[in-house]
Amino acid sequence: MISFNKPCNTNNEEQYVLKTLKSSKMSGDGHYSKKCETWFKNYLKTKKTLLTPSCTAALEMSAMLINIKEGDEVIMSSYTFVSTANAFVLRGAKIVFIDINPKTMNIDEDLIEKAITSKTKAIVLVHYAGVSCDIDKVVEITKRRKIYLIEDAAQAMEGYYKNKALGTFGDIGTFSFHETKNYTSGGEGGLLIINNNKLVKRAEIIREKGTNRTQFFRGEIDKYSWVDLGSSYLPSELQSAYLWGQLENVELIRKNRLDSWNLYYELLKPLSNKNLFELPFIPDYSNHNAHIFYLKLKNIKQRTKFINYLRENDVYSVFHYIPLHSSIAGLKFGKFHGNDNFTTIESEKLVRLPMYYGLKEEEIRYIVEVIKKFFTQL
Ligand SMILES: *Cc1c(COP(=O)(O)O)cnc(C)c1O
Repeated sequence: MISFNKPCNTNNEEQYVLKTLKSSKMSGDGHYSKKCETWFKNYLKTKKTLLTPSCTAALEMSAMLINIKEGDEVIMSSYTFVSTANAFVLRGAKIVFIDINPKTMNIDEDLIEKAITSKTKAIVLVHYAGVSCDIDKVVEITKRRKIYLIEDAAQAMEGYYKNKALGTFGDIGTFSFHETKNYTSGGEGGLLIINNNKLVKRAEIIREKGTNRTQFFRGEIDKYSWVDLGSSYLPSELQSAYLWGQLENVELIRKNRLDSWNLYYELLKPLSNKNLFELPFIPDYSNHNAHIFYLKLKNIKQRTKFINYLRENDVYSVFHYIPLHSSIAGLKFGKFHGNDNFTTIESEKLVRLPMYYGLKEEEIRYIVEVIKKFFTQL
């Protein structure tokens, strides 16, 4: 059976995890956490990076940082993971969903402005599959209308927009190190990226249970106490140790995934030329990270048959994201602005093929053969 995902492991992680197990400190902000944060600060050339237990936690911190309160509106696409919305709903926001661009499955940037009201506090961008949105268009709107820009770059580490790293364009960006993402901190993990200088100090406080303990540890104050809203958003040192092993191999992992992605693309191109399905579209401004390889089939009925056929032939493929606006909680906490021309219909066509670090060339060739057989038996 070819699995859909395998958590990334380059065999470089184990030594750092073992070293941490034998050390006298396993709680957060230790040796490896500091190494990782410095690495990210240099890579992203930003004001502050803070490791978190998950991307969900980093998004929750973002909502606190921009002071989301009851009645505020937050604009996003409906084709995303629940945490993109949930983090803001937790602080009382109403979610305003708008339609996607069917070519990239990202938010349709041209619909954002019409959805803005006097209550709009932020726009959240998701770079689906690590392929960037057209960020310049969005930054122009958020600057002119004085609205916060948050990038849920959960899938987008090592993805770029016009050669600048994703996660560095918004006031705040977030990464996920869940085991389904390109880089993992041992199953769960995340990063909060603060690009707006004004938010740095409070981010440290929110992450340390609402205390100024981080400043105290740096020797800037002589005692620490409860000063603001907050929670516990430090990952264990074991997570950071695992992540450090991956950061030393960032390029190796990126290249391996891109090789797989490009091979899929090349082998499947002749079939897509016959209009049997659509391949992913990468805009000129995007330099992606091969997070997802997907096909878009005719409709949900064909997709169900396709997934079953692949499974009968020992290949696991999956679909995801029931659009949030049509889910039980989405109906309660959000509303769809404008028409759902593409979100539902395109989401029902999409299927994700196996994609992970270490996927073998012969496995990809086998998967493509199975796909070919599926279309000849139609
Ligand atoms: C994976 C993902 C998340 C959640 O990440 P966790 O680290 O599991 O909390 C949030 N948003 C998007 C777009 C994701 O793909």
